[in-house]
Amino acid sequence: MSYPNLALHVSGQWLRSASGGERPVVNPADESVLAALPLAGVDELAAAAESARRGFAQWRKQTALQRCDTLKRAAQLMRERAPLIAGVLTMEQGKPSAEALREVTLSADIIDFQAEEAKRLYGRTVPPRVAGILSQTVSRVPVGPVAAFTPWNFPANLPARKIGSALAAGCSVVIKPAEETPGTCMAIVQAFLDAGVPADALNLVCGEPALVSRTLIAHEAIRKASFTGSVVVGQQLGAQCASLVKRFTSELGGHAPVIVCEDADLDHVLKLAVPAKFRNAGQVCASPIRFIVQRRHHAAFVQRFTEAARALRLGPGNDPRTQMGPLTHARRLADLQHFIDDALDQGATLHCGGRRAPRPGWYFEPTVITGAPPASRVMRDEPFGPIALIQPFDTLDEAIAQANALPYGLGAYAFTRGLDSAHRLGEEIEAGMVGINHFGVSQPETPFGGVRHSGIGSEMGAEGLLAYTDVKLVVVGASS
Ligand code: NAD
Repeated sequence: MSYPNLALHVSGQWLRSASGGERPVVNPADESVLAALPLAGVDELAAAAESARRGFAQWRKQTALQRCDTLKRAAQLMRERAPLIAGVLTMEQGKPSAEALREVTLSADIIDFQAEEAKRLYGRTVPPRVAGILSQTVSRVPVGPVAAFTPWNFPANLPARKIGSALAAGCSVVIKPAEETPGTCMAIVQAFLDAGVPADALNLVCGEPALVSRTLIAHEAIRKASFTGSVVVGQQLGAQCASLVKRFTSELGGHAPVIVCEDADLDHVLKLAVPAKFRNAGQVCASPIRFIVQRRHHAAFVQRFTEAARALRLGPGNDPRTQMGPLTHARRLADLQHFIDDALDQGATLHCGGRRAPRPGWYFEPTVITGAPPASRVMRDEPFGPIALIQPFDTLDEAIAQANALPYGLGAYAFTRGLDSAHRLGEEIEAGMVGINHFGVSQPETPFGGVRHSGIGSEMGAEGLLAYTDVKLVVVGASS
């Protein structure tokens, strides 16, 4: 299959060229250039924001049931087109085809769920405290045009979360997908447009990221920003939104701990943990990173985890035998190497991997490290790659302290057969999502979000829709 011609969607038109020039989109599996991506300059960005203002005026007038129907049609179109969209996703992002297909169909499920939630955007009436008031109605209203910024690790899922929820709430959207992976988002935008979303209600721009976010957030038409990416960029965008008193939601990654207690079934843990760690080559914000294993299991866990990691088949995502694809962009290769060299220099032990794979493409070997000291960079910052860190613990107090030692709090996991331990871990680990005996914390029906440096607010679930609404009170008094 072929990669599409790339374009921006501004003011109802697909633009094949734009005033910001262009940049190549590269296939990470073989480093070939797939296409040229047009980049928006300030004129196209202003036009996109103005278009979103017009789109909002149109779209907000639709009833919740009409919005729901349109979005469900978009989800259905995505399912029908899933093999094609997944093919584009694998070409530009690198993940295995089966993972890409699952991502696209799950994205359709997210849109479906948010579409249904539009029908349940209930308000309430409040009994008046004084005579002469006929009604006091509290309702949820759409915040207005939204600027949404998504990264390259889930090119379908992350745009689907933001666009689906914003449109369901009655907002319009200007989305900026990652410049590395724009083709998937284009296909998703096309599905929404084909389903009947007004052309002005959904704009897509790419460009120099800082210019795009600065310009869009500053634009008077834009009322909210939603960002997924690194802490540093999230801080910058959050500060800009705060200075303009605009709403802001962020999801900024994590450093997920996995506590494995001595009463856990090691076979079960390993069966789930190895695929969870190396899914999407570890480029997952809720990816398990720090395996904190009770001493009785530690040696066996290291040995068996290492064997399984070594056995993983690396290759291009479109080869059905591939279990782990390349990293999505070249700059991550050097960064991962730095994480590992720094840990080894500080006394850590390397059990497998630890280097770029000796083949064309941006492949990094599955890596297992023990004994990384708390001061090493890999123990403090998110490596965002196929690196597993394993360390021992003796008491549950110690394990919980290790899990909570970093300023992140997105995903966290624990394995135990003890009811008391399960409850305690669920309660005391500081994270937005805790999986006990399970890694599945990212579902269309449940809120996904972090605490502390992992971000502000939630996506998906009922909370995902609420993030695109304001609370409004209308008091009606007697007219005479
Ligand atoms: P980055 O923060 O520079 O980029 C992530 C995304 O944000 C990209 O799509 C990029 O285009 C966009 N971006 C960058 N600067 C921006 C700006 N000023 N305004 C708007 N968008 C902007 O991160 P990276 O170099 O691509 O990856 C580095 C680290 O970011 C990773 O190691 C990981 O910790 C984190 N990250 C997290 C997620 C996540 O899902 N939370 C996704 C990607 C990257």
